[in-house]
Parts: sequence; structure tokens; C-alpha cells
Amino acid sequence: MEENIILIKKWAKSAGKIDIPLYHSADYKLGSGKNPTLIIGGVHGDEPEGIWLVEALLEKFEDLAQNNEHFKRPWILIPCLNPDGYTSRNRTNSKGVDLNRNFPTPDWTPTAKAERYNPGPQPNSEPETQALTKLIETEKPRLIVHCHSWKPGIIYTGSEALSHATFLSKSSGYPLQDDIGYPTPGSLGQFGWLVHKIPVICIEEREGATKEETWERFQKGFFKLFEIRP
Ligand SMILES: [Zn+2]
Repeated sequence: MEENIILIKKWAKSAGKIDIPLYHSADYKLGSGKNPTLIIGGVHGDEPEGIWLVEALLEKFEDLAQNNEHFKRPWILIPCLNPDGYTSRNRTNSKGVDLNRNFPTPDWTPTAKAERYNPGPQPNSEPETQALTKLIETEKPRLIVHCHSWKPGIIYTGSEALSHATFLSKSSGYPLQDDIGYPTPGSLGQFGWLVHKIPVICIEEREGATKEETWERFQKGFFKLFEIRP
């Protein structure tokens, strides 16, 4: 690993006991709470397009690090929060919980409108969610971006996310939305904004997009977000 990037291979463990790696820019000291940008893929294990997008960004960071470029903006990157779901091609973790309904928010509810949205037995019951909530509370990110795949869109939670979300929308051609169209109690967006006033952007990549295609679409937006020279 390039010295400008730190890899923590065993940052957390999933419910199914799979290691979850975390990367961060070396200029950022983990635990310092100095507002890095947090990028996450694979909250839903059956949405590989979001993981590819985050991996493509990591590859760009690795290129920059190899050329000894320093990062203007500190960042933390988790390519796949839900390795259980990714290895079994499921939305949920190995306990059948939708991590994006398991966050401890004021609107968390034990009832789900369908099995696939199972919020878990109680808020923050899952090891993946626990690790991420702790990370967010310690590092206090300035912005959280999580990458999914479904119907193309850029969904933002919190007015402070609007300018970044607008740029990501314009540069990708994907529609800007302040709502996914249905309630998402216990979601990461609700946790970031309602609990901690941290703006959150959810990128919904087109289902079936290739890694090359997704990077092509979002690189301009990401370059601006991290102040990277293309
Ligand atoms: Zn998703």
C-alpha cells in the first residue's frame, strides 16, 4: 500500500464474521474527529455497482498516492460495509437485516413493509451498523456519501448536502432528489442528518452498469468533491 494511504484490513467484522476493511488518507489521523469525507459502498450486498464505484475511486486515490500527490481533503473509504450480503448476493447481512434500516434514529421502527427491509430486532443491533455509527460519532465526517444501485438518482438528506448533490447530479446526468420516494426509517441518511446534522448523499447507480461506466459517469463529481486535479 502506498504510504499516502492507510489500510486497516480488520476494521470491523460482519455478522457472518467476515472482515470489513477501511482505507483512509495518511494525512488523516483516525480518532481525531477532524471532519473527513466518508465514502461507503456495499451497504446492500446485492448492489455491486455501488461497490465498483467506490473501488474505482480508491484506485484513483492509489494512482495519486503513487505519484506522491497529497490529498487536499482527508477521506475515509469503506468499499463494502456488508460483505455477508455481497458474498451471498443478498441485500441484507447474514442475519437477514437490512443495514440501511438498522441505524439508531428517532424514526426507527421494528415493522417493515416487506421482508427485505427487515430493520433488525432493535436499532443498531448489527455489528456493521455499530461499527459505522461509532466511526461517524468519532470522526464527525463533513459529508457522507454512500453508493447503491437501483433507479438512477442522487438523493440528499440535509440542506448542507445540496450543493455537492447538485454538482454530482449535473455532472452525472442523474436526477437530484431530496427523497427516495418512500419513507426510510433507520437509514444512514436519517442517522447522519437527524441525529448528527451531517449531510448525507446516496448515489443510486443504474443497475447493470459496469465499473468503467460508473467511473466515467462519476469521476468529475468525485474530483470536485475531493479537490483532485483530473
Ligand atoms: Zn441500496
